[in-house]
Amino acid sequence: MKVAELTKTLAYGAAPEAAKPALDWIAEHEGKFQLFINNEWKNPSGKEWFDSINPATGKKLGSVAQATPADVNAAVKAARKAFAGWSKTPGHIRARYLYAIARQIQKHSRLFAVLETMDNGKPIRETRDIDIPLVARHFYHHAGWAQLMDRELPDHQSLGVVGQIIPWNFPLLMLSWKIAPAIAMGNTVVLKPAEFTSLTALLFAEICASVGLPPGVVNIITGDGRTGAALVEHSDVDKIAFTGSTDVGRIIRKATAGTQKKLSLELGGKSPFIVFDDADLDSAVEGVVDAIWFNQGQVCCAGSRLLVQEGVADKMIKKLRARMEKLRVGDPLDKAVDIGAIVAPVQLKQIAALVKQGADEGATMWQPSWAAECSKREGCFYPPTLFTNVAPASTIAQVEIFGPVLAAMTFRTPEEAVKLANNTRYGLAASIWSEDINLALDLATQVKAGTVWINSTNQFDAASGFGGYRESGFGREGGREGLFEYVKRIPSTHKLEPSPGHGGRQDGGEKRTSANAKTLGAARLPAQKASEKRTSAGLSLSGMPPIDRTAKMFIGGKQARPDGGLSLTITSPDKKIIGEVGAGNRKDIRNAVEAARAAANGWAKSTAHNRAQILYYLAENLAARGDEFAQRIRQQTGATLANANAEVEAAIEQLFTAAAWADKYDGRIHGVPQRNVTLAMPEPMGVLAIVMPDEHPLLALAALAAPALAMGNALVIVPSPQHPLSATDLYQVLETSDVPHGTVNIVTGQRDELAKTLSEHDDVDAIWYAGSTDGQAAVQKASAANMKRTWVMAANGPLPDVDEVLREATQVKNIWVPYGA
Ligand code: ADP
Repeated sequence: MKVAELTKTLAYGAAPEAAKPALDWIAEHEGKFQLFINNEWKNPSGKEWFDSINPATGKKLGSVAQATPADVNAAVKAARKAFAGWSKTPGHIRARYLYAIARQIQKHSRLFAVLETMDNGKPIRETRDIDIPLVARHFYHHAGWAQLMDRELPDHQSLGVVGQIIPWNFPLLMLSWKIAPAIAMGNTVVLKPAEFTSLTALLFAEICASVGLPPGVVNIITGDGRTGAALVEHSDVDKIAFTGSTDVGRIIRKATAGTQKKLSLELGGKSPFIVFDDADLDSAVEGVVDAIWFNQGQVCCAGSRLLVQEGVADKMIKKLRARMEKLRVGDPLDKAVDIGAIVAPVQLKQIAALVKQGADEGATMWQPSWAAECSKREGCFYPPTLFTNVAPASTIAQVEIFGPVLAAMTFRTPEEAVKLANNTRYGLAASIWSEDINLALDLATQVKAGTVWINSTNQFDAASGFGGYRESGFGREGGREGLFEYVKRIPSTHKLEPSPGHGGRQDGGEKRTSANAKTLGAARLPAQKASEKRTSAGLSLSGMPPIDRTAKMFIGGKQARPDGGLSLTITSPDKKIIGEVGAGNRKDIRNAVEAARAAANGWAKSTAHNRAQILYYLAENLAARGDEFAQRIRQQTGATLANANAEVEAAIEQLFTAAAWADKYDGRIHGVPQRNVTLAMPEPMGVLAIVMPDEHPLLALAALAAPALAMGNALVIVPSPQHPLSATDLYQVLETSDVPHGTVNIVTGQRDELAKTLSEHDDVDAIWYAGSTDGQAAVQKASAANMKRTWVMAANGPLPDVDEVLREATQVKNIWVPYGA
């Protein structure tokens, strides 16, 4: 008999990994796992315990403590106490701790892998070759960031105590994504693992203690959603980082609204896997295996929608079915198994229900011939499942199944592929398969997703940021971009105070001098001359008749009357009427958003050079009418002439700054270990709403709106209700500066009323709001509807630095491009 024949006739023999190391470790703990607080093991104050079950056998692994709010409080207290020292520990020392943790994880990698597989049900091949190595890599990589923090993030400091809540699908990997950057940046942590999978987090706690990490720097508290909620609601937590379902993400968004807690959310997905007719189909089939059967499909970025170009669809599906027939479902500890156990019965039920619904809604369901064996096994197993004839709007095409279920659809043209790909509320990842690199990259820029893999899928690395667009959440984990989730800017020491020798135009019409604002940093108002006289070269604050002119809205490049036909009277500080503006309503906002959406794509695609030119032109036209704008500032705010002039100069300088950054706020190429270039590209948010602060009405416009424009966003601006006239005076400047219609829309009116409509609007991608703390809370709560990113600030606070504005105006997309023949 030939060897080739032998391979066909040989019976399959299992190659199980020994469970003993994990069972011994559990036995050492007598099967009972306490809370890890301040480097000590504590019983839960509520005396409640729950079982951790091996989903592949249904057998109990151990009892895990259910932390109460009192336990959460103890953990937060320990973290707070540790923060003082840890945040001041030199980066190099922190780096050594992270390095030590990475080394320990590697040294105990077999135990971690086996324990993870038993607790979660995922195949040992994955825990051994993917999860655990990536965990170690994450700590090594972030040891480097701790080392470099002072040098690379010089104006930033640690945030404080960070509450972190993670899911069960990559228990230790998600822990590392959370803890490594947090402690590298000098924060202390209270982390809650998912209730199905707590064990490797507790083994990790032991590692922390064993390397001598100072008590309180890392605290691990176990428990279910109640524990998570208590952590989210704790008043002494500075940031919440969450990975999990979009539904819980929404609850957390609402719970943290208005609290000043920083928030990052990594939520669900329904990622497209797009195959063009020139793709290497055999590779693409292997890609699908990795995309949707990796970790039983319980992956937030799983390629769960297969979009195939029509001409090769039959061929691809045939190859795929043949491959599925060969997949092996079974004991996750068996090294030859492809698909392990689903994490828990409740999840298994949900998958089965959604599959039934898919079939009921008319799609064609296919499973391998051996599928029925899965349900005969003890434990939670589900066969790989393929749906064809899927309607794009059907449940299985829209809802995240979080199981080994693939929904296949076809397309004809690249345009149709983009439409189908983006036909989801999510935006976590996408995979594009084509031998035509031009086509693949063109598509990569059009797909709304935080990560795009070209001719590859489910690739991760600590050097490359991961996170979502749209309802997949906001914030990035990994890469340089991920560090900003764990730091805050050191407040600028510069104040809006007079500084002699600057102050621009003097009364009597001297030329305005260049403002003193070295505005690569904070948008600062140059100083006033203390002795300034309040005479005027133009309008005076007294003796003028009221201006009989109501400024309209500016929507789609045209001046538009307010829909409600109502006006608001604007007065000077000494209560004189200085003008009227339209009282915008929901309809005006809707029109403005529509106009912005229509303009957004074109503006985003325009070249950065072009955007810079338009901003310079705006600056030029503003300068030409500087006197008017200065007088308007005086009228509205009562500023001295010198200060008003200085504000105009600072605004012009801000426009220059934004123009300068337009073609310089570049992406990066991340150095990942795979044979890839990973392009980290900042992309505009899309339609961005800005509810303006009150102070410095012109400068605020320039400091906030100009960088947002420079980055390619289309804007809906609500000017300060107190001082809206600087914005309404801008219409003519905008009209004469080649700003494309719809790119800047301005709606005047009641701040909080308009902010509410904007934050509830599903077609607004991000909102910045300056106003009261109640207003901030309302905006953040309402934004949970479509998970838009929010940025809130005081109505009269200092204006943010331009680098912060640029970061808030963009989201990083990581495009993985493989190389090598
Ligand atoms: P999944 O669908 O992945 O199970 P969940 O969002 O339900 O995701 O769970 C992710 C994590 O969030 C788990 O650690 C879970 O205990 C926690 N969690 C669940 N409900 C809440 C809540 N209301 N507040 C905070 N955390 C919660």
